[in-house]
Amino acid sequence: MKNPFDTEERIAFRETMRRYVEKELKPYANEWDEAGDFPWRIHEEVGALGFFGFGVSEKYGGLGFDDAFMRAQAGIEFAQCGANGIVAGVSGRSISIGILQKLGSEEIKDKVLTEVVSGRKGSSLAITEPSGGSDVANLKTTAVRDGDDYVLNGSKTFITGAVKGDYFVVGARTGGPGIGGISLFFLEKGTPGFTVTAMEKKMGWWCSDQGNLYFDNCRIPAKHLMGVENKGFLAIMNNFNNERLGLAAQALGMMKVCLDESVAYAKERETFGKPLLQHQVIRHKIADMSAQVDSIEAYINQVCWLMNEGETPVAEICKLKFTASKALEYCASEAMQIWGGAAYMRGNLIERIYREVKIVSIGGGSEEIMRDLAVRQMGL
Ligand SMILES: Cc1cc2nc3c(=O)[nH]c(=O)nc-3n(C[C@H](O)[C@H](O)[C@H](O)COP(=O)(O)OP(=O)(O)OC[C@H]3O[C@@H](n4cnc5c(N)ncnc54)[C@H](O)[C@@H]3O)c2cc1C
Repeated sequence: MKNPFDTEERIAFRETMRRYVEKELKPYANEWDEAGDFPWRIHEEVGALGFFGFGVSEKYGGLGFDDAFMRAQAGIEFAQCGANGIVAGVSGRSISIGILQKLGSEEIKDKVLTEVVSGRKGSSLAITEPSGGSDVANLKTTAVRDGDDYVLNGSKTFITGAVKGDYFVVGARTGGPGIGGISLFFLEKGTPGFTVTAMEKKMGWWCSDQGNLYFDNCRIPAKHLMGVENKGFLAIMNNFNNERLGLAAQALGMMKVCLDESVAYAKERETFGKPLLQHQVIRHKIADMSAQVDSIEAYINQVCWLMNEGETPVAEICKLKFTASKALEYCASEAMQIWGGAAYMRGNLIERIYREVKIVSIGGGSEEIMRDLAVRQMGL
């Protein structure tokens, strides 16, 4: 569909991302996914394209501006690379950047932001704990003030980029129960009392790394408290908005691949004496997939417009995320049906997307939590 919000800059950015994905990622995506890893240089290459720079001042190597449309375009193009693990591995490092920019001290920003924004170093956001990820207000890791330090005890799980990560933004309890007792801390790899272990094999996101973090009387300088003590919950919630927009954009990127691959296959493959595309049932599947792609694209545009207007459209972002994850589920399933047995074979592009569907409906806030939050935001 023609995008009414396109500008010369956005088109140029999208085309640059598209060329990069086509030339530098697509040919190697399956190989890297199977290997469970991708070269670190990818971070630096997308860093040079500006991927990490939205909302970050130029002083720290950022773009000096934010644009929700460009953020979304980056996710849509990136997700067409054929291995969402690459997208997750890289994007997982970007979800802590907003907090570093907004709440980091000058010292932290000087030291860390430039390295992370350029892609030379990795930074992860560590909120989820073994006792649960949905109920952030109930997180259990503690940080107790002791002289010039906070002493951290507890653990985190599912943290993207943890194994290769250099820096971490960690949520911990500094006060009483609930949302009013949570703070954010900056933590460096190698800090005594802080260890990381790699997680087991996963359903998807093969070439991204996820890890468990353990804090055993880990001392963090008090100056590494990010923002105001006990006010971390709101910062975590606000930070989710860009992450959720990014996940919806990734869903759309994968949906586009499902549609394009299905059309191409349905033109070539013949059954009962004619191409699949001439069978009415298949034509209807293509029509439905195409309508879903258009709907999610329009929804993303609407949310991006609101965000660029300076609004914080939490309900719309939540509704967008679960609508997009459901639409991806639909498109991946229908693409699989159109391709038949061929797509059941490991490494087939549709098979690779099919295994990435579930994480979009769980990560960054599950479908259930998105619905719950949307309804609460609607005042119900
Ligand atoms: C591959 C991967 C990468 C991740 N990367 C990160 C990361 O980088 N940083 C990070 O902090 N976290 C990360 N996560 C964690 C992710 O955000 C959580 O998995 C997610 O928030 C859900 O938490 P949970 O898995 O603990 O499920 P739980 O919170 O235990 O919930 C289990 C199920 O119950 C449902 N549920 C929970 N409460 C309710 C309710 N009130 N009503 C109805 N249903 C409910 C949930 O929707 C879910 O389906 C990652 C997860 C995965 C799988």
